Amino acid sequence: MNPTDPPPLLLAPWNQSQPWTCDVRGELLLGGRPLSRVVDAVGGTPCYLYDRARMDARVAQLRAALPPGLRLHYAVKCNPMPALVGHLAARLDGLDVASVGELRVALDAGMDPAHVSFAGPGKRDAELHQAHAAGILINIESRRELRALAEASEASGEPARVAIRVNPPFELRASGMRMGGGARQFGVDAEEVPALLDEIGGLGLAFEGFHLYPGSQNLKSEALIEAQARSYALILGWAERLPAPLHSLNLGGGFGIPYTPNETPLALPPVAEHLAGLVERCRSDFPQGHLVLELGRYLTGEAGVYVTRVIDRKHSRGQVFLVCDGGMHHHLAASGNFGQVLRKNYPVLVNGRPGPTETASVVGPLCTPLDLLADRAELAVAEIGDLVVVFQSGAYGKTASPREFLGHPQPLEALV
Ligand SMILES: *Cc1c(COP(=O)(O)O)cnc(C)c1O
Repeated sequence: MNPTDPPPLLLAPWNQSQPWTCDVRGELLLGGRPLSRVVDAVGGTPCYLYDRARMDARVAQLRAALPPGLRLHYAVKCNPMPALVGHLAARLDGLDVASVGELRVALDAGMDPAHVSFAGPGKRDAELHQAHAAGILINIESRRELRALAEASEASGEPARVAIRVNPPFELRASGMRMGGGARQFGVDAEEVPALLDEIGGLGLAFEGFHLYPGSQNLKSEALIEAQARSYALILGWAERLPAPLHSLNLGGGFGIPYTPNETPLALPPVAEHLAGLVERCRSDFPQGHLVLELGRYLTGEAGVYVTRVIDRKHSRGQVFLVCDGGMHHHLAASGNFGQVLRKNYPVLVNGRPGPTETASVVGPLCTPLDLLADRAELAVAEIGDLVVVFQSGAYGKTASPREFLGHPQPLEALV
């Protein structure tokens, strides 16, 4: 921008942790440039755009708040775009992968295998062998995985690095997605861990610690603090039975982001303060141990937008439909079909139209009523050719969507 340009205007359709701004023409500013120019430079719509500066600001915010010594990992699952993973790999302490495909992305991103860990409820023998050969930390989630790695360790003469993924006897309250507590396919039930610890000692494995993941998409600091406190207490109860000194205690993450106007961003300070206490305790309870947080959407979700273009404007029995060149096949989560109980609109905006608004639905080109990006939203009056922006789209977007469905073109992706 020119120094003589008027100051950018704030866009406020929802509770943003990092406010978005637009220029006087109402164009969203991305990397300091008007969206339409960025889209042209990337090659057109539909596209996902990820803002490096926003990811950096998020990392900086976390580093400033969290205690030194706490390791910050990125969960590749939420957005495995190689350039994005490379960007974060250079700024964080580790990467967590959930498949050997993600493992390749993590290693190609330049992350030291010493700081890559692998979790997932169904790791095939070949995948365990691959992870072992790569020298990464494997979170074992069953006795079968333990046996396979013990055999592989013996055969290679190289002890596999293992941690136990624990299914805790509690869940993360108020989570968008629960992944611990009760009966789960994830990890080993806490009740079985003591016996497993006794066994590991004799198996020629390199035991390094534990992994717990009680839930995702949480905006309540009290709930996160409670889960972290209970996780630590659970592990401390096994301190005397460990087959080797604890190196890594991964407390999971679960930090959520707001998707709707009535959701409030997570308050980081109380969580950080509690974690500082845990880091302190860990230093005396487990002198070689490190606490790890693995965050996904909290690092990338708010940095990404999905951009699609209006290809038709229809009226049907009193309702306006903006028919776009992208939809649920690229962005299943925004269509409400990725785990939501009640469908709610993501924050959506018509680019470059500061003027009057109307009630309109944003739909995609698929021949199914599920292809809905915004249901009767209050939007600026849009014309054919306008860009529609879906915010909070940097996580669980492209790779979490049924892109083959109906055979439309794939979305582009770029870092900005
Ligand atoms: C999905 C997942 C994450 C990331 O979850 P977010 O909600 O994106 O933060 C982290 N760890 C594990 C084990 C996961 O399965």
